[in-house]
Amino acid sequence: MLDQYGRTIDYMRISITDRCNLRCRYCMPEAVESVSHCDVLRYEEILRICRAAARLGISKFKITGGEPLVREGCTEFIEHLKNTEGVDQVTLTTNGLLLADKLPALYDAGIDGINISADTLDSARYGEITGYKGNGTQKLLEVLEKCSAMGIKTKVNAVLLEQTENDAPELAGIAERLSVDVRFIELMPIGFGTTMKRVSPDDILAVLRESWPDLAETDEKRGNGPAHYYKSSGLKGRIGFIDAVSHKFCSECNRVRLTSTGMLKPCLCYSDTTDLRALIRSGCKDEELKSALERAVYQKPRAHCFDDGAQITEHHIMSQIGG
Ligand code: SAM
Ligand code: SF4
Repeated sequence: MLDQYGRTIDYMRISITDRCNLRCRYCMPEAVESVSHCDVLRYEEILRICRAAARLGISKFKITGGEPLVREGCTEFIEHLKNTEGVDQVTLTTNGLLLADKLPALYDAGIDGINISADTLDSARYGEITGYKGNGTQKLLEVLEKCSAMGIKTKVNAVLLEQTENDAPELAGIAERLSVDVRFIELMPIGFGTTMKRVSPDDILAVLRESWPDLAETDEKRGNGPAHYYKSSGLKGRIGFIDAVSHKFCSECNRVRLTSTGMLKPCLCYSDTTDLRALIRSGCKDEELKSALERAVYQKPRAHCFDDGAQITEHHIMSQIGG
């Protein structure tokens, strides 16, 4: 499907819940009121939207949240989505803490890739960032090994925070041991991210070059997103950067977002949405759903305005949007 600027939109991020088992400082740091269950789309409703989207050429889907694995039936939903006509790829973004038990079912469902969020491998710091009590990083390392052993395409996502300079070499070390890409994501000025200090990806690259001096940019395509990657002879995986703010990549944007309450969001930066839940629950025909999707995609804004906070109209927090 093409938008008004000629971009091909073939990727949808779907948040299946706004609930989460963590409280990451930059995302959902304190008790935020959850959406009531009746306002969250049922799996059948999400699948109906996916079928309509797939008919229009959206063939890649990322399942996110909140934490997607806290919602019961997530793996069965993924299996249904994978078996939907026109769907090429279904991937998952998770904090990884509930992943180990669900890996066999996800593997059988045909999951195409898993992104695991880990901002540090220091257990105490992990607790400070996420509110998790216990050895979270040990769990993450174990599940990363499992994913790797099962041959699941796996990436680690770390948000760039003030401490990342200290954490980056150990995080990148995962790519030394395993065929896993480690990506550093620039903090976005959404929700609680607006109040925190941004760290430059270039500074982190400089830190990593102290350990892997031959890190060199590669134009390999390794996913559906805007990450750019570096390789080194000492690393099995790649090091990626997603720097939406400092390196605007809107001209190549290929995505729309569906929130857990059924709002279709063409751009992360703006509050404009199309209420697909209201449409579906009013008993719309497939044709009407298709037209609503086409209209929303067509009207996707040209670019974000993260460099000018006054113009950002999105005031939801990231766990309500899906990242
Ligand atoms: N709970 C899952 C997780 O943590 O991977 C999925 C949802 S989470 C909202 C998706 C991604 O958004 C995570 O990688 C998280 O680190 C990232 N994220 C959350 N808030 C962010 C912000 N303000 N800027 C950049 N990334 C953010
Ligand atoms: Fe939860 Fe993910 Fe947000 Fe952390 S980043 S609070 S794990 S939704």
